[in-house]
Amino acid sequence: MDPKLPFGLRISDPRYVNVESVPTGAKCGCLCPACNGPLVAKNAGRQKISHFAHKADCVGALETVLNETAKQIVRELGFV
Ligand SMILES: [Zn+2]
Repeated sequence: MDPKLPFGLRISDPRYVNVESVPTGAKCGCLCPACNGPLVAKNAGRQKISHFAHKADCVGALETVLNETAKQIVRELGFV
């Protein structure tokens, strides 16, 4: 199953960003933190739920993205 990722790792910062906050398609400039594969932002309103498209054989992408995004939030709020 193609994991539908709500967040991706933006290469330029690098930080985890929501799919709604990046350019559409391959121009999003984001990677999957689990496999370092490029993500494609599906956020132009043609999908029911915006997400990053991703290769189907990456194991653990969603877990990794959610885990790393949560850690980023905690870090930025100053809890660690
Ligand atoms: Zn991946």
